[in-house]
Amino acid sequence: MRTDYGEVLREIADAVGKLEKSGEVAHYIPALAKVDPDQYAMFAEIPGKECHGVGAVDTVFSIQSISKAITLAMVIEKKGESLWERVGVEPSGNAFNSLFQLEREMGKPRNPFINAGAIVVADELLSLYDDAKGHLLQLARELAGDETIDYDVEVAKGEMATCHTNYSLAHFLKSHGNLRNRVEDVIELYCYQCSLTMSARTLARSFSFQCSDGVIPYSGRRFLTASQSKRLNSVMLTCGFYDQAGAFAYQVGLPGKSGVGGGIVAVVPGFMSVAVWSPRLNKYGNSVLGIESLERFTTKTNLAIF
Ligand code: GLN
Repeated sequence: MRTDYGEVLREIADAVGKLEKSGEVAHYIPALAKVDPDQYAMFAEIPGKECHGVGAVDTVFSIQSISKAITLAMVIEKKGESLWERVGVEPSGNAFNSLFQLEREMGKPRNPFINAGAIVVADELLSLYDDAKGHLLQLARELAGDETIDYDVEVAKGEMATCHTNYSLAHFLKSHGNLRNRVEDVIELYCYQCSLTMSARTLARSFSFQCSDGVIPYSGRRFLTASQSKRLNSVMLTCGFYDQAGAFAYQVGLPGKSGVGGGIVAVVPGFMSVAVWSPRLNKYGNSVLGIESLERFTTKTNLAIF
């Protein structure tokens, strides 16, 4: 079992850089389509002890659906278990923006990480905070210990202009009485959360609280209880990669969350957070080299939870 994590990261970057290129960047909005597909970064942090990085660790990218884990944490913090009356905790086995399951399940999304579930979570945030967008940004900065984290307004506006499927999910939720705020307001918050930008370094740091039983190492504040933190890790393990969640658990063996900006964050509970960024995506919308790198990481370090 290797513990020279810096060297492990360098070996991985070197090896995956030699693989045949596969996958494409997300094309659904111009701001994402123009991203250079062959950028790469990996960063690992043992909060308060060590950090190691390789590649473009300070280049920022759109975290997209990784934001769903942060908004879920915010709602769990304030509401605890009652969220689960509106959203399930079962893996979906379907695409992240799938509509048909929502119809079959009468407007109760299967989990908080498919788009329908994240839209309900955004709706909860709007009900909980007068300025949910501002509060989310403040939290993202606190989690990473970095005041420069921001929304990318070009990405947010691009999403808002084109996300017809998300609008239809929100209207469908509304028709089933599972959306309290105005569809337009919920979608705006959802699009802004997806536009949060972070680097591999700040993304790994943002999930340090998941290595410390819910305490944010940079501010010392208890954000989640140990039990809530454990449950967030469970949802990340079972639902973090949509219809590839089973394969990620099988290959990597860690809770994690992906986004179509090409980022993935993974957590070794109680110990370490690791972020990878590589914009080429597979057919499930998950980073090809991100998964490849994390599989190699847990193989070399034996840090998988199983
Ligand atoms: N903004 C994207 C969407 O809602 C996020 C999807 C993702 O990262 N999987 O379609």
